[in-house]
Amino acid sequence: MEHHILGFPRIGAKRELKLALERFWRDEITQNDLERVGNDLKERHWELQRKAGLSFVAVGDFSFYDQMLDTALMLGAVPARFAGGGQATLETCFRMARGDAARNLPAMEMTKWFNTNYHYIVPELSAAQGISLSTRTIIEDTLRAVQRGYRPKPVLVGPITFLALAKGVDGFDCWQKLDDVVAVYAELLAELGQHCQWIQMDEPVLCSDLGAKSRSAFSQAYGILNKAAGSAKLLLATYFDTLDDNLDLALTSGCAGLHLDLVRGGGQLEAVLAKLPQDMVLSAGVVDGRNVWKTDCAQALVLLDRIRDKVGDEGLMVGSSCSLLHSPVDLENETTLDSELKNWMAFATQKCDEIHLLGQALCGADCAEALAVNARAIVSRRNSPRVNNKAVARRCAAVDQAMLSRNSEYSTRAKAQSWLDLPLFPTTTIGSYPQTAEIRRQRRLFNEGESSPREYEAFMQQEIRQVVSRQEELGLDVLVHGEAERNDMVEYFGQQMDGFCFTANGWVQSYGSRCVKPPIIYGDVSRPQAMTVKWITYAQSLTKKPMKGMLTGPCTILCWSFVRDDMERSEVCRQIALGIRDEVQDLEAAGVRIIQIDEAAFSEGMPIKQKDRGSYLQWAVDCFRLSTSGARDSTQIHSHMCYSEFNEIISSIAAMDADVISIESSRSGMELLDAFKAFSYPNEIGPGVYDIHSPRVPTAEEMIDLLQRASGFIPMERLWVNPDCGLKTRNWPETLASLKNMVEAAHRLRALVKE
Ligand code: GLN
Ligand code: ZN
Repeated sequence: MEHHILGFPRIGAKRELKLALERFWRDEITQNDLERVGNDLKERHWELQRKAGLSFVAVGDFSFYDQMLDTALMLGAVPARFAGGGQATLETCFRMARGDAARNLPAMEMTKWFNTNYHYIVPELSAAQGISLSTRTIIEDTLRAVQRGYRPKPVLVGPITFLALAKGVDGFDCWQKLDDVVAVYAELLAELGQHCQWIQMDEPVLCSDLGAKSRSAFSQAYGILNKAAGSAKLLLATYFDTLDDNLDLALTSGCAGLHLDLVRGGGQLEAVLAKLPQDMVLSAGVVDGRNVWKTDCAQALVLLDRIRDKVGDEGLMVGSSCSLLHSPVDLENETTLDSELKNWMAFATQKCDEIHLLGQALCGADCAEALAVNARAIVSRRNSPRVNNKAVARRCAAVDQAMLSRNSEYSTRAKAQSWLDLPLFPTTTIGSYPQTAEIRRQRRLFNEGESSPREYEAFMQQEIRQVVSRQEELGLDVLVHGEAERNDMVEYFGQQMDGFCFTANGWVQSYGSRCVKPPIIYGDVSRPQAMTVKWITYAQSLTKKPMKGMLTGPCTILCWSFVRDDMERSEVCRQIALGIRDEVQDLEAAGVRIIQIDEAAFSEGMPIKQKDRGSYLQWAVDCFRLSTSGARDSTQIHSHMCYSEFNEIISSIAAMDADVISIESSRSGMELLDAFKAFSYPNEIGPGVYDIHSPRVPTAEEMIDLLQRASGFIPMERLWVNPDCGLKTRNWPETLASLKNMVEAAHRLRALVKE
């Protein structure tokens, strides 16, 4: 019985890849140096898989930037504007991923890989695009692995997933390139097939809603590819959800093996077992590739036994649910987690050991000792008073419908909020102001115990004074305190709530060299005391203008954390929402009149399949409402979302019933306003009038133009004027210049209305 992982994280336990990439981009090391780091990481990860006792080492899971981008390069699908010398080199790769400042070329589009927090580069295809095998990295790596005595299992993004996620330039239908793309894969498989027994074809798109075109493309492609692979067998890897309507497609693909994600797609097992062809091997993904918890081995073994009964030893492979790309690298590097919490977790390295243990146990090897250790850890977590808080459970159970609505509807609230005395086209910002090197230094000193709480507070107060006085000079209408005390909008709140813990090195790749270290929600969440009141009330004491309190919303905290796997996500979200609700009430009691609850990640929790989206949106909206509905009518609730593709969820956003929302829109030239043509948004809205991701200072004229267009869809009495996101990554000079123009734009619009 074989056992394997679908891929290993590529960044390195110490983020070696990130550091090397950034040094290379700063011209501090050569391409040779960078490639050496890459090769070392590949070999280290192969060795780790071999040492763990896995049957294969995954080859081709490494990438200097992104696996979709690598696939585009492999196919020679380099858009003409990046082609340069026509070579699919590393230089071309980085130009596509990061843009080319010298030639004023923006980077290619990037978007989320299914429902994960990993982002891939969206391949572009046009009619004129030639397709041919253009890189040989995976072949070379496979050969190198063979030479080193490993048993390689090459991993490829499959052609159907590639084409389904690619975007056609000027409406080009990417499926027209199917034959060309499949021909390249066939050429590649023919060569790879000579050096390995199994080749993994990642087709997660099979777990999404597929149209007729992609379904027929799938059958056509795999008919050809299975032949091309010769004596090597194709393992069709599906993950992140169930196959449902695409199950028959997968079962009749002709592939020798099918991988199922039994963590996120467990419900499909019986249906699959009932129909699985005799000669098709089933790879059972029982070890969660996307979370940090130890596998309950006893439970996994029950499942695996059940499968083996049906398919026999030869017909079963044990695996990770998906690539381990989405989990941190090595728990051994955690120095700050206490031993009890650590004992409940497994990172990528430990997951390899778990898979091996499961394989051994199934083969009847004597693993009693290791299984007992695992069982003790599982029980310890299940029964821990740190996980279970009865008061939280009781409070959650008592949430009723009334707690999900403000006292009055928007129109009544708007009248109650007139005490804010805001002008037409009120101006505000999204929360953060430039995070200078000095701010970061002071935070670090404090966190490392090198400055006292009093010194830290004094520094932050000075910072707030400066931010407030600058906003007053600019003439903004609704001020913010600037968020200087926050390193991260989720971590800041997680650190102050019970039920969260933090790793020292639990990095996962978000995109390219960017890594994130998500908080871990291990237990019932509650908020023991006020989290932001001290800073906001200090800021309010400095000005007569309304000071907007700043909170992060429950869905965003959930989406950007590792979440416990022993409770529904909706329930965890509800616990967080109750904590935020308490904070809203504390802020209000302290005299704060406007409170913004950011839901930057609201749409990120969206399930892959249409049929599951309604229920997600329902509980996500409910949680937002739960966190806000304790506010009085006279308190104005804002929300902010970093999302421009609104059309699908606009009615859910309206259902959140914030008094004011601000949204990203400037980059798409207010394209999002299309959503408002079909749906008339009932409350107030600030469509971002300039792009904070760019250092460019926008002119008053262009912002006036955007706002005038917006007022075609939203009555001007309900329009706000603000940038499209927080300003923490910008510097002061460009921020002041931009906001000066923004305030001027609002003034000129007011004057136009008076005329
Ligand atoms: N209030 C946050 C800020 O301004 C919002 C950030 C975000 O939307 N990502 O930084
Ligand atoms: Zn934003």
